[in-house]
Amino acid sequence: MASNNLDWANLSFGYVPTDVNVRCTFRDGVWGPIEETSSETINLHIAATCLHYGQEIFEGLKAFRGKDGKIRIFRLEENARRIIESAKGLLMEPVPEELFCEMCKRVVKANERFVPPYGSGASLYLRPLEVGISAKVGVSSSSDYTFMVFVTPVGPYFKEGFKPTNICIMREYDRVAPKGTGRWKVGGNYAASIAAGDRAHKLGYSAVLYLDPKEKKYLDECGPANFFAIKNGAYITPASESILPSITNKSLMQLARDMGITVEQRHIAVEELNEISEAAACGTAAVASPIAEIHDLDNDTKYIIAKDHQPGPVTTELYNRLRAIQLGEIEDVHGWNTIVE
Ligand SMILES: *Cc1c(COP(=O)(O)O)cnc(C)c1O
Repeated sequence: MASNNLDWANLSFGYVPTDVNVRCTFRDGVWGPIEETSSETINLHIAATCLHYGQEIFEGLKAFRGKDGKIRIFRLEENARRIIESAKGLLMEPVPEELFCEMCKRVVKANERFVPPYGSGASLYLRPLEVGISAKVGVSSSSDYTFMVFVTPVGPYFKEGFKPTNICIMREYDRVAPKGTGRWKVGGNYAASIAAGDRAHKLGYSAVLYLDPKEKKYLDECGPANFFAIKNGAYITPASESILPSITNKSLMQLARDMGITVEQRHIAVEELNEISEAAACGTAAVASPIAEIHDLDNDTKYIIAKDHQPGPVTTELYNRLRAIQLGEIEDVHGWNTIVE
C-alpha cells in the first residue's frame, strides 16, 4: 500500500524521485542482465549517437491502483510493440517484447509505494526509453544500446474538472515531415514541436492542431496527442503516415465500436471542422482532453465546437469507460490490463 506523504491529488505532470529504475544494455550483439539501480543519472560516452544524431526513442504508459487494490498497467504489450516499430524506424536495436514487459513490471513492483491510491485520480507514469550509446562521429547507426525504464507518480490531468480548452492552427510550423519520423515515438519529433507549442501557449491555447505537412489540407495531430471528433454521430480521426499511432486513440476507437458508434480513420479536411459536434485530443496523459474552440490563426476563422463550454456526451462517455477499465471498475473485456502481482 502507498506509504508516502505525497499529496497525490495535487501532483503535477512532473518528476518525483522514486526508489529505483531499471536498465539493460545491448552490447556485442546481446542484451545483458536487467540492472536495478537507485541512481537517477546515466553515464554516457561524449560521442554517443543519441547525443549527436538523435538516436532516442521512448514510450509513455501508466499503472493504476484499482478499486480492488490491485495494480494494473494499461496496454503494456501495445507499448512494447510500438517501441519495436520506433527502433526499426531509426535503425536501432529493437527491445524484445518480453524484456520490455518484464522490466516495466519489475520497476512498478519495486516502486509499489509510489502507486497512488485508488480514488486519488493520480497514477504511476512509466517512461521507457532507448538510446544509442556507441561512440561515433560519422553519421551511422549505433551498435550498442541502453534501454531504461523509470517511473514517477503523476497527479490527475484534470485538476479543475473535465473541461474543454481552445487550440489553434498555425501553418508556419510542421512537427514532422510527410515521410519522416512522425509515425514513431522519437524525441526529435518533440524537439521540432517545442517552439510552436510555446508560441501557442503564450497566445493562450493549450495546443497546436497541426495540418498534414505535405498539402496543409487535412488534420494531423494535436500537439503531442492524436485528434478525434464526432461528426453525425460517427467517431472520426485522421489517418496519415506522419501520425504517431496513439494507443489511447486505438482504445477509444474500440470502445466507440462497442457502443455501436461508426469509426472512420481517414483524411479529415480542415473545412470539416464546420460539421463536427465534439472534438478532443487523446493520449496517455489525459485520455481525452475535450476541445471547445479551434482558432485558425492564418485566416482568422473560429470553429466553435463546445458552444456551452462543456465536454460533449460521446467524449464524456468514452473517457469514463476507459478510466473505469484502467481502475478495474468495469470488466476488462478486451484484456487491456496487466496485473502486477
Ligand atoms: C505518445 C504520443 C501520442 C499519444 O499516444 P498514446 O499511446 O495514446 O499515449 C500521440 N501523439 C504523439 C506525437 C505522441 O508522441
